[in-house]
Amino acid sequence: MNPASPAPAQSVSRRLSEKAERFTESVIREMTRLALQYGAINLSQGFPDFPAPAEIKRAAQEAIAADINQYAITWGARSLRNAIAEKLARTQGVSVDPERELTVCCGSTEAMISTMMAIINPGDQVVIFEPFYENYGPDAILSGATPRFVKLRPPDWTFDREELAATFGPSTKAIILNTPNNPTGKVFEREELEYIRDLCVRWNAFAITDEIYEHMIYDGAKHISMASLDGMRPHSVTINALSKTYSVTGWRVGWAIAAPEVTASIRKVHDFLTVGAAAPLQEAGAAALQLPDSYYEQLAQEYTARRDRMLGILTDAGFRCFKPRGAYYIMTDISGFGFPDDVTFAKYLVKEIGVAAVPGSSFYQDAASGRTHVRFTFCKKESTFQAAAERLEKLKARAGVNK
Ligand code: GLN
Repeated sequence: MNPASPAPAQSVSRRLSEKAERFTESVIREMTRLALQYGAINLSQGFPDFPAPAEIKRAAQEAIAADINQYAITWGARSLRNAIAEKLARTQGVSVDPERELTVCCGSTEAMISTMMAIINPGDQVVIFEPFYENYGPDAILSGATPRFVKLRPPDWTFDREELAATFGPSTKAIILNTPNNPTGKVFEREELEYIRDLCVRWNAFAITDEIYEHMIYDGAKHISMASLDGMRPHSVTINALSKTYSVTGWRVGWAIAAPEVTASIRKVHDFLTVGAAAPLQEAGAAALQLPDSYYEQLAQEYTARRDRMLGILTDAGFRCFKPRGAYYIMTDISGFGFPDDVTFAKYLVKEIGVAAVPGSSFYQDAASGRTHVRFTFCKKESTFQAAAERLEKLKARAGVNK
């Protein structure tokens, strides 16, 4: 028998991880592939199609030229950790020790899975608001946590306090919170955060907050870091990254901020998962984090204009839109178009109309809950909006809004 011949299919599948079999590939990234395949305007995956700021690109080039090309300290270059701590103190009034409370990772994606692996034991439950950013499901499976979902309900994506309280219990290890929220655009209010804080304190649970959209904030909404609430420091893990704030999603530089003993555990997991994030890009990150307040003000203004542009295009094409107060996505209701479900609609949209969006079901545990939704991103330049608007014209007839 030839030892190189492939084994029969069923014995291969028995050799694979049962955990990996419990989730599918990312639908968001799949939509980007479909957009490329069909030449569609890609409004699915949330990455900017406009340039990153010149000064931080220059900082990255200079770091490489200066030969910052070997491993950084595993848990992050000191310059970057200091800059992160300084910015958090300046913007949220939270002071952290960059030597003991901060881990730089390969994007917030790695910060999240490293955190989960650092705190979860078999039998632990993790509360996740639904709809949720699709990574949190696989993160729970890979770390061995049992997810418990609590719905955010349209139109303003509020949660039922009693339902949330009933979901917490002695097995609750953590709640994952994304504010400003992907995909809904909800920005959690202080009272909501305080209610969650009280549950975390009562059940000795962590709040892992993904705050990556902190500067995409509209209509006077205010981003409040969970760690800034009284009593939350020992309970909070704050996750963030360069990706969205500085339009460098491909750099893969993110971080997790947590109390020293939690950080010690996160650092161990991180070290053996990835060793560290790209050293020259960490240096550039230190420069980025020192940009003046005017940078963030301008960013929010520009994103407000992009949001309004996209709301106009989608509403005109027949979508019912949930107006986001933060982040850079618009959740829509597609019931008016008469399609059986979100996946059929998204496929039609990418193949026949030439615009890619993300089917709502990929943000829900039960596909039925997302059946009438699709998500669009608006971190795009004007020529992209223009092209999308032209293509979406064709949809009007289907929505019965043809005039
Ligand atoms: N956060 C982005 C989104 O929701 C994508 C992130 C990613 O693909 N890694 O579209």
